[in-house]
Amino acid sequence: MSQLRFEALKKLNERGKVHVEPIDPNISKFFGENVFGMEQMRATLAPAVFKKVSNAIKNHEKIDEATADAVASAAKSWAIGKGATHFTHWFQPMTGGTAEKHDSFFDALAGIERFKGSELVQQEPDASSFPSGGIRSTFEARGYTAWDPTSPMFLYGKTLSIPTIFVSYTGETLDTKSPLLKALKAVDQAATQVCQLFDKDINHVVASLGGEQEYFAVDKALANARPDLVMAGRTVFGHSPARGQQLEDHYFGTIPSRVYDFMRDFEIECWKLGIPVRTRHNEVAPSQFEVAPLFEEVNVANDHNQLMMDVISRVGDKHNLKILFHEKPFAGLNGSGKHNNWSLITDTGVNLYAPSSSARDNLLFLTFFITTIKAVHEHADLLRASIATAANDFRLGANEAPPAIMSAFIGAQMTAVLDELEKKGNVKIEKGDNMYMKLGIDQIPEIILDATDRNRTSPFAFTGNKFEFRAVGSSDNCGTPMTALNLIVADQLTKFYESVSKEIEKGEEKRIAIVNVLRQYIKESKAIRFEGDGYSDEWVKEAEKRGLSNIKNMPRAIDAYLSKKSLELFEKHGVLSHKEVEARNEIKLESYIKKVQIEARVIGDLAMNHIIPTAIAYQNKLITNANGLKGLGVDNAAVVQTIKEISEHIEIIKNGIRQMVEERKRINKIADTHKRAIAYCDDIKEKYFDSIRDSVDKLELLVDDEDWPLVKYRELLFLR
Ligand code: ADP
Ligand code: MG
Repeated sequence: MSQLRFEALKKLNERGKVHVEPIDPNISKFFGENVFGMEQMRATLAPAVFKKVSNAIKNHEKIDEATADAVASAAKSWAIGKGATHFTHWFQPMTGGTAEKHDSFFDALAGIERFKGSELVQQEPDASSFPSGGIRSTFEARGYTAWDPTSPMFLYGKTLSIPTIFVSYTGETLDTKSPLLKALKAVDQAATQVCQLFDKDINHVVASLGGEQEYFAVDKALANARPDLVMAGRTVFGHSPARGQQLEDHYFGTIPSRVYDFMRDFEIECWKLGIPVRTRHNEVAPSQFEVAPLFEEVNVANDHNQLMMDVISRVGDKHNLKILFHEKPFAGLNGSGKHNNWSLITDTGVNLYAPSSSARDNLLFLTFFITTIKAVHEHADLLRASIATAANDFRLGANEAPPAIMSAFIGAQMTAVLDELEKKGNVKIEKGDNMYMKLGIDQIPEIILDATDRNRTSPFAFTGNKFEFRAVGSSDNCGTPMTALNLIVADQLTKFYESVSKEIEKGEEKRIAIVNVLRQYIKESKAIRFEGDGYSDEWVKEAEKRGLSNIKNMPRAIDAYLSKKSLELFEKHGVLSHKEVEARNEIKLESYIKKVQIEARVIGDLAMNHIIPTAIAYQNKLITNANGLKGLGVDNAAVVQTIKEISEHIEIIKNGIRQMVEERKRINKIADTHKRAIAYCDDIKEKYFDSIRDSVDKLELLVDDEDWPLVKYRELLFLR
C-alpha cells in the first residue's frame, strides 16, 4: 500500500534539472508581445477607428458594427502573423476559473481565414452545463458571451483569446466579470462627481488593483500520490511535521533553485502576456510563495490574475511542480490569500488615497478615506459575504489569517487625524519637531504617513496610499470582492455628495459642508475601526460588544447578499437584479454542497481503503510481536498498549465514517438548498472532518513509517 508513496519519493530523488531558456534582461523588449491591446490597435487601425474604440472604452459606451469589423480584421491579421489558428471567447463563469471554446479562423467552405466583427462582439457557447442557479433551465441551452473591449485580447498558445462577459439567453449575467464592470462604472461616476467638488478638470476615476498571489509549490509526483490533493486541492489528513513554520526561516529566505527556475519561466510567459509581474518571494509556511504584479485598472488586473494562475499551473507542471492555490492545503500551517491592494486614481493622475502636502488635496484625500471607512462600516457583512467560499472557511480565523470579523485598520497617525477632526477640527501631526497644524477650513493638515505602520492581522488595512483587502482567498476570482468593495464605496460617495449638496443649498460654505459630513461619518463608523491584534480572543469578545458580526462559514455569510440593504444597493446602481443575486447565491450554495460532499467522500475513501487496512496490518505485526514476547516471558505491556490504542483509533474512524455516510443520506433529502448547505456545514464538515482526522493523524504517529500509505507533510513540504 505504501508503494505509491515510495515510488513518488524515488521519482523525486531522480529528477534532473528542467531546462530554462536564457532570458533577455531587457524585459521591455518583449513585454506584451502576445497582447493585442491599445498600442497594437493604435498601430493597426485607421486613426478615426482607433479614436472610436478608445473613446468607447473610456466612456463605457458601445462599439458600432463597422468599428468592430475593423478591430476583428486587425486582430486576426496580428494573431495569424504570430501563428494563431483559432480564436476563443474567454470568460469567467460562476464555477471559478476561466472557460473557453475555440473556433478556427479557417472557413473551410470559403477556403479562407476570416474573423468578422460580429464574431468578435458576440458568441453563443452552449451554456447548458454552466451553473445558472435556476435562471436558465437546461433545455434552454443558450447563453451569450460578449466582448469586453476594456481588457486587451491576447495570444495564448495558438489561440487569440478575447475577454468576454457571459450572460444568459434572457439577459441575466452568469459570470463574475459583468457585475464587476458595472460596479467599476458606478464608482467612476460617483467618485468623479465628488472629485468635481474639488477639481473640475477630473472627468474619470479609475479603480486599481494589485493582487498579491500566494501559493504552495510541491513536487508533482508527491502531490499525485495524495488522492486528497488531487481530488480536493487540500490535504484532509497529515500529521504536522516536527518542523513547521516555527523557525520562521522560510519567509523572505533564499528561494530554492528549483522553484526559482519555475518562477523565472512563468514570469517570462506572464511578461509576454502583458502581465506586469514584479515581486517574488518565499512566504511564511515552508514551500509557500508569493507573486505580485504591479497594480492595474481593476478589470484588467483581475483578468491578468486569472490568466496568471493558469500560466503558473502550466509552467509548474513543466517543472514537475504541483501548484496549490487552495486557501488551506495544510492544517497547522499558514493558509494562502490574495491580498487585494486597491485604490482610486483620477484621470489627472491623483491617487485619491495618497495624503499629500497640499491642503486642498488633503481634504480630497480625507473625503475618500473617511467615506471608504464609512462604507465598510455600513456594509461589513456584504464584504464578508464577498470573500466567502468553502475553501476560505478553512483559512479565515486560523493560523495567521485575517479573522472572519470585518474591521478596518488605519494606523496610529490616521487614527489621530480622525480623532482630532471628529473632536475639534484641530490636528497635531508629527512632522519634524512636532509641528502643530490646524485642520478645518483654511488649513488642512499636512499628513506624512509612516509606511512602517503595519498590521498584518486586519482583513482590511490602510497601507499608506491604498487599502489592502486581505481576507480574499488565494484561489478566488477577485471580481466578486472587487464588485462589492467598489459598489459600497460608490454608494457611500453618492450619499456623501448628496449630503454635502444639501448643506451647500442651505447656504453653508463648501469646505465647511464637506468637513461637517466627514465628522458625522467618523462618528458613525467608529465601531469598524480596530488597531489591535485581529488574531486575539479579546478581539472576538470586543467585536461582539461593538455589534460586529463574526460569521464563521460560507453558507451563512452569503445570506448578506439577500438582505434588503444589499439588494437595494445592487439594484440602485444597476449592478445585479434581485433575481440575479438569488441565482448567484443558489449557485454558490450548490457548489459549496458539492465541495463538502467530495471532501467527505475523499475522507471516507482514504480512511477505509488506505488508512484502516494499513493500521490493521501493522497491528497484526504487533500482535505477533506481543505473543512472541509473552512466549519468552518478556513484559509485552507496551506493545499491548499500542495495539489497544490502534484499535481505539480504528473504532473512532470507522464509526465516524459510518455515521457521516448516514448523515449524508439524510441531508441529501433536504429540498431547500440553503438548509442543505447549512446541514453539510454543521452536521458533516464541522462534526466529523476534524474528529476523523485527529485519529488518522494519531495513527500516522503509531504506524511504522515504512508502511504508511500517504506522502507525509515533511516530505511534501521539505523535499525538492
Ligand atoms: P506589500 O508591502 O503589501 O507587499 P507593495 O508595495 O509591494 O506592498 O505592493 C503590493 C501590491 O500593491 C502591488 O501589487 C502593488 O502594485 C500594489 N499597489 C501599490 N500601489 C497601489 C495603488 N495605489 N493601488 C492599488 N494597488 C497598489
Ligand atoms: Mg501586502
